[in-house]
Amino acid sequence: MIIFKYARQLEEYIQQQKTARKQIGFVPTMGALHNGHIALIDQSKKEAGLTVCSIFVNPTQFNNPKDYQLYPNTIGQDIAKLEAAGCEVLFLPAIAEMYPAGTINLEQYDLGYLETLLEGKYRPGHFQGVCQVMYRLLTMVQPDKLFMGQKDYQQCMVVNRLLQLMQSAIQLVTCPTLREPDGLAMSSRNMRLPAEDRQKATTIYKCLTLIKEECNKGIAWAVIQKKAVQSLLDAGFTIDYVELADARTLQPASGTQGPRVALIAAFLHDVRLIDNMMV
Ligand code: AMP
Repeated sequence: MIIFKYARQLEEYIQQQKTARKQIGFVPTMGALHNGHIALIDQSKKEAGLTVCSIFVNPTQFNNPKDYQLYPNTIGQDIAKLEAAGCEVLFLPAIAEMYPAGTINLEQYDLGYLETLLEGKYRPGHFQGVCQVMYRLLTMVQPDKLFMGQKDYQQCMVVNRLLQLMQSAIQLVTCPTLREPDGLAMSSRNMRLPAEDRQKATTIYKCLTLIKEECNKGIAWAVIQKKAVQSLLDAGFTIDYVELADARTLQPASGTQGPRVALIAAFLHDVRLIDNMMV
């Protein structure tokens, strides 16, 4: 695996690969890699001729400075995992490489209602940060295909919106959420859970499964939501939201028509976990 720290060298290499007619697959990450990330690398390896992964903990997408400071860094292990997965290129830029003019007064994107709903509502500025870094990364990597996880459902919708705004031909491939054997969605933030909280964390998956079952039985959403909220509170969570949304728009689901997605965001102490499930 070739590791690039500078965009100019990465861009030169990618240009050569494109001239050799290689299709470029791109997996952007913030590191602390787990099997969910590696599944994205595997998918890219299946669909593209050259796989580029980036590891960059983007400061502009953290609305909570403590979350940024405590974000895990396991770069040595990450490199070993990427090598083992057969990833060909790792882009590992410093902050100044991504934001040479600093991180204040950056460009803003018209994300419409996506910015004020669910994650947008509880993490103000988060999706602007995601777009600021994704715009830069996509311009540098120039991929044909971009691989992202359904775990961050709304983020996939936001990136699709960004691709529209950029009038880009890049294809976004959304990959299924990888879970631990007990159902907990794999996440870099899981590393920060002490043993007791790690056990309680499975409640999110249990709630999503219950929501799916009860929705499919035709039970009213208000009744199901109340039950899910209560089990999360009983397990010690502080809840941001438990919602049922139209899977295409993320607007609150009305009725039982069309694909729906249940979404949960909640804290165990200072660790914020999100997950979702198609209903
Ligand atoms: P992150 O490093 O958290 O920014 O995530 C990088 C990419 O990996 C994003 O597209 C995530 O949606 C995806 N991802 C994170 N967790 C999982 C998971 N458990 N299964 C599949 N993809 C995931």
